[in-house]
Amino acid sequence: MASTDTPDLKARLTRATAATAQAGLDALLVSPGPDLRYLTGYDAIPLERLTCLVVPARGEPCIVVPELEVPAAEASSVGDLSIRIESWPETADPYALTASLIPEARQVAVDDHMWAAKVLALRDAMPQAHQRAAGEVIQGLRMRKSAAEIEALVRAGEAIDAVHAQVAGFLRPGRTEREVGADIADAILAAGHATVDFVIVASGPNGASPHHELSDRVLRSGDTVVVDIGGTMPSGYCSDSTRMYALGEPSAQAVADMEVLEHAQAAAVEAVRPGMTCEAIDAVAREILAEADLGELFIHRTGHGIGLETHEEPYIVAGNQRILEPGMAFSIEPGVYRAGSHGARIEDIVVCTEDGVLRCNNRPHELVIVA
Ligand code: ZN
Ligand code: ZN
Ligand code: ZN
Repeated sequence: MASTDTPDLKARLTRATAATAQAGLDALLVSPGPDLRYLTGYDAIPLERLTCLVVPARGEPCIVVPELEVPAAEASSVGDLSIRIESWPETADPYALTASLIPEARQVAVDDHMWAAKVLALRDAMPQAHQRAAGEVIQGLRMRKSAAEIEALVRAGEAIDAVHAQVAGFLRPGRTEREVGADIADAILAAGHATVDFVIVASGPNGASPHHELSDRVLRSGDTVVVDIGGTMPSGYCSDSTRMYALGEPSAQAVADMEVLEHAQAAAVEAVRPGMTCEAIDAVAREILAEADLGELFIHRTGHGIGLETHEEPYIVAGNQRILEPGMAFSIEPGVYRAGSHGARIEDIVVCTEDGVLRCNNRPHELVIVA
């Protein structure tokens, strides 16, 4: 898999080690999840038994692995990277083992997704070590995507675009959101995703709830439908795209909302380039909606970063003065939500390039009228 080849992973571990030292940390402690996958390529099962990558600020990384998981760890890119495996038998104390690997540590960082039970057990096993969240180190690395990661996001975008190309065929008056959602989920897998992460089919008034997923509401002629869908590719990289559909004749207000929204979304995408701040991109979309008196109805941020997780840094939101750099990937997804009536959202994943923007989603943006 291009996105997880060994040179790319080796470089990530080297950068993580340097960033750990620079942050004044003695070690990073990383349990199964997106951070472990990012740093080692190992997509370990999240078990109650401790698996933990130890990245010391000085010295070589190693990984604590339950004895029964050793074959899986060795078969993963942990083997290719020749990361030392410290295995622990079923009745041993893996927390004491982890502590013994970094006896001098006074400042450690645990990954942002580590289970609380493991965080607390590590704290008890190394009472001299102050714990911080590893996000401050790892998010900075994950946010700046390599060419192989961008390629993986482009592939994910193509896959979800192929699903949106079929959605109009699933929508019909008389079907429920849940029935349509089941067809979409099948199509997400058929398009090459390894998993379905979410399927939002928000018809009519349900569209006014941004994260409404599926219900037994029966689709009716005149409904507009928000379809926001995503999955994870075998590479580990995620897709996420929203398009708008209408069954028969949409209301004049829905059409008018869509017109402004298309303009706001396109302008925000076109504004993406190195040197812009995250909040400036958010403001581009927000000001266009505000000028049309829709500002109050745009109740969420403009976007979120995406990669091995659907939501990660950088967040495209007011107050985030982070400056965009080449390789940052995120959504642009302004929306308009009218309680009791309908909602509208248009979402693409984009990547900041050396001189502008790369679009990972390339389906038409206008309201698709399903006859
Ligand atoms: Zn969301
Ligand atoms: Zn999104
Ligand atoms: Zn979405």
